[in-house]
Amino acid sequence: MRRVPLFVLLLLCALLAAPAAADRHAPPNAVASILPLHALLAGVMQGVAEPALLIAPAQSPHKVALRPNQARRLAQADLFVWVGEELESGLRKAVSVLPTNAVVIRLGHDADVPVLPARDSAAWAPHHHDDDVGHGGIDPHLWLSPDQAARIASRMAEALIEIDPGHAPVYKANLERMVGRLDEVDALVEQRLAPIRGRPYLVFHDAYQYFERHYRLNAIGSVTIDADHAPGANRIAVLRRRIQESQAGCVFTEPHFEPRVVRILIEGSAAKIGELDPVGRDIEPGPEAYFELLDRLSTSLVSCLGPTP
Ligand SMILES: [Zn+2]
Repeated sequence: MRRVPLFVLLLLCALLAAPAAADRHAPPNAVASILPLHALLAGVMQGVAEPALLIAPAQSPHKVALRPNQARRLAQADLFVWVGEELESGLRKAVSVLPTNAVVIRLGHDADVPVLPARDSAAWAPHHHDDDVGHGGIDPHLWLSPDQAARIASRMAEALIEIDPGHAPVYKANLERMVGRLDEVDALVEQRLAPIRGRPYLVFHDAYQYFERHYRLNAIGSVTIDADHAPGANRIAVLRRRIQESQAGCVFTEPHFEPRVVRILIEGSAAKIGELDPVGRDIEPGPEAYFELLDRLSTSLVSCLGPTP
């Protein structure tokens, strides 16, 4: 009896192992950079797999430096969704060395997701997420309106269907359900904000342009150019005058920021202090998180600016 040559055995092993590796129904390893994008991705993938959230909610997307376990998670992604170097500038290098078969959606530069130009008038204190990257003039907070969220979710579904056609019917059904939910939440938020529309207010950094446009709100400027740096004495003087002259109802801080500077700003004016969070640092990640983010933003605006002037 002839012995089977070793190379034939190895070949057999390789052939037997191959179908598992190439299984078209294996759920993709999907990763999103920040909580709101992760929430939309989790919604589209519901019933198939849970995507990973790369940047922990407590970490600022503006200043992120990947820890080794985060870098590993990113390196293993079949699909990665982020805004781009205008927001998560610290990810630029790690994304540039991803394997060529990984699908990367850079939303700030995606034909399916329109972006607004960054506001650079003095009132808006143009915002630098990174010193060595020109932000290309776009406002990178592009997830902050329900119509944008629907476009983003649809773009995610398209990519997932391409990577994992076996689950196409699930992705399509999930997308349809989410668009329906977004419409419902949109109507509710629209109604909630109606009484405060037109009331002037200031935000901490210029992160809410998409939200303000969508709901026709009257934000009149931002406090700082950089969420991590307090404004200087000159700017404080300009802002104080602006708050008093415009009769701004509120100045909004952001979580984890020392509100002392905001207290100085509103001294001698009728403005109150509120808080807004564009990323949802205190929100539990998952498919509900995006709806919760819109709910919280609108609730915070109304509880500070309403109901009576
Ligand atoms: Zn920002």
